[in-house]
Formats: sequence, structure tokens, C-alpha cells
Amino acid sequence: MKSTYCSPIVERLVPYVPGEQPKLDRLVKLNTNENPYPPSPRVIAAIQAAAQHGLELYPDPEAMALKQAIATHHGLTAQHVFMGNGSDEVLAHAFFAFFQQGCPLLMPDISYSFYKVYCGLYDIPVEQVALTDEMQLDVSAYARLEGLSVAGVVVANPNAPTGIGLPMHHIEQLLRLHPTRVVLVDEAYVDFGGDSAIALIAQYPNLLVVHTLSKSRSLAGLRVGFACGQRHLIDALERVKNSFNSYPLDRLAIAGGVAAFEDVAYFEQTRQAVMSSREGLVLALEDLGFKVLPSQANFVFVSHSQHDAAGIATGLRAHGVLVRHFKLPRIENYLRISIGTPAQCDALLQALASVFTGLA
Ligand code: PMP
Repeated sequence: MKSTYCSPIVERLVPYVPGEQPKLDRLVKLNTNENPYPPSPRVIAAIQAAAQHGLELYPDPEAMALKQAIATHHGLTAQHVFMGNGSDEVLAHAFFAFFQQGCPLLMPDISYSFYKVYCGLYDIPVEQVALTDEMQLDVSAYARLEGLSVAGVVVANPNAPTGIGLPMHHIEQLLRLHPTRVVLVDEAYVDFGGDSAIALIAQYPNLLVVHTLSKSRSLAGLRVGFACGQRHLIDALERVKNSFNSYPLDRLAIAGGVAAFEDVAYFEQTRQAVMSSREGLVLALEDLGFKVLPSQANFVFVSHSQHDAAGIATGLRAHGVLVRHFKLPRIENYLRISIGTPAQCDALLQALASVFTGLA
């Protein structure tokens, strides 16, 4: 129904639909790519300490302590880092800052569905570039569009929801194809085995790399994301952010984020645990007849030749296991399954065996 209260654009928006956050905690939750391990104990201690004093005061609008910790980790300076309330907010500001150019933004046809939502929000035309039949990004398809005037390029690497990684020389090709536009590389999942483009920042003034603490740092609940790039891009993002919300990170998030980067051993231990569970899970799923796309992320994207994905997802839910099914063209027969603890992976495999018996 039309409302006289709303700006006309509100009716045209197609909002992002996040995966289910169930109220029951006995479910095995493998549907939103969270880390199955809790954050470092040092993060909890830092948040508790930060909560003891100072909450009556605004936080540092620059979150400088966290920028510094991130810059040190990545061999950059704090001027190369932009912070946001989750990487979704960082992405939103980047789309606003760089891609409202009156011409289409290039992105893979299968990728993180929020990209298209931001395009709707900011009226950015989209040109979807098809992945190959094997769900690989084909750089030559981008090269074929070279004559087209474009607003920029956005890719997730590793891609979501496929988990497939893109080698650095392909990222470089994209950067060279569009030297006057920003190429945004969303590396939300890179710590689980992908290659990071952060090393290329000094060479490419058009490269913006976006990261999150939600996945490899086990902090989805704290909402911290960041972007790295040359100073002129970071300055543009700061202008947008300071026209929207000066304090996107609260005091607890800044303190917890710093501690997460300080506890290198915990970060290494948990990401290795996730990657090793992934190896075991891939083999077990293949034994059950699934085709598993090669994943460099904390999830796998799978399809089954005999059973349809929606039916499997419904069956798994009845057995207390949540996975993600996207009812979208080309991927409606796939399931995205987050990598859990060994116990959660076992529960998934047991539930799958029961579901297949029921479907047989
Ligand atoms: N990018 C990709 C590719 C994602 O899958 C997600 C998680 N849904 C995000 C960004 C956003 O993560 P967050 O806002 O938790 O940092």
C-alpha cells in the first residue's frame, strides 16, 4: 500500500534477507557463515575491562587504536584503514562514495546478494557478468566489456556463496582494465585459505579491499568491518561516514577488536581448525554423493544429483540442522553449508544420512 509518509524510494527498495537467527539454541547453526568457535578469551577480557568505565562518553570517532592494530597486522599505516559497523556498512559507504557514476557497476551474476541491494538503495545500475558453468569468474568476460563506461567493479574473493577463490593475477587484470574506477575486493572469507589483495594496495590507486571481523575473528556479534586502500579512497570514505554517523564503532567494539588482532595465536589456531574441518567435511559430503565446489572459505557450496536442495534443507531443519538455500536462478539446486566444529559437522552428516533415508 502506498504511504504518504514514506519517500518514494522506500517502496522500490528490495532489502537483503539475512539468514535465520533462530531463538532455539539447540539447533546446529550452519546457515550464516559465523565462526563455530567463540572469540579469543582476550577479547572477552578487553570488552569487560572497557565496560568498567567510560561508557558515558562517546567513543573515538576514528577508532584509531583499532585502525593502528589492523594497519600493523597488514603492514599498512592507519591512514590506509577505514572502519565501519560491520563490513556491510563499509560496503554501503563504498558504494555511495565510488559507484554513483551514472553508469553500470560490474559484478558477478552469482555473488553476495547485498551488492545489488546497495545498488537499489543508491540507484546504481548493475551489469551482471556471468560466472562460467563451473562457477568460476571469467576475467575475459570483463575484458569484453572494455568499451562500456562502467562505475567500477565489485567482487568477493573468495566468492560468496561459492567459496571459490580468484588468483591475484586475475584481480590485477580487473584493476588494469578499469584504472579510473574503483575495483572493490570483498575479502570477508580470505583468512580461510584465500590470497589477499592488500599486498597490491601500494601499486593500485583504484583498489579497495574490504574485510570483516565477523568470520575469522569470531566477532559477528560485535559488528566490526574495515576497508584498506590508498589514502585518497580512505579520505573519501571518511567524508561519507562523517556525513552519516560519526561513531559507528562503540567503545566495546574498539577494545574487543584491538584484542582480537593482538591474539595472533588464537586467530591462527581457530582458522586452522576451521580449514581442517572443511577438508574432512568435503570428503564426507562427496561420499554422500554431493558435488562440492572447491572452497577457500568457511563454508562449502554443494549440490546433489539425486535430491533437490530445497528438500534437503527442509529435511535438515526437521533434524535440527540449519543450512542456507537461495531460491535464485542458477543456484537453486545448491546448499551453502558453514563449516562447524567437528561435532557440528558430525551432526550434519548424521542428519543428512537420516534425511536421505527419508527421501529414498
Ligand atoms: N561480505 C560478504 C561476502 C559476506 O558474506 C558478508 C556476511 N554476510 C559480509 C560481507 C558482511 O559481513 P559483516 O557485515 O558481518 O562484516
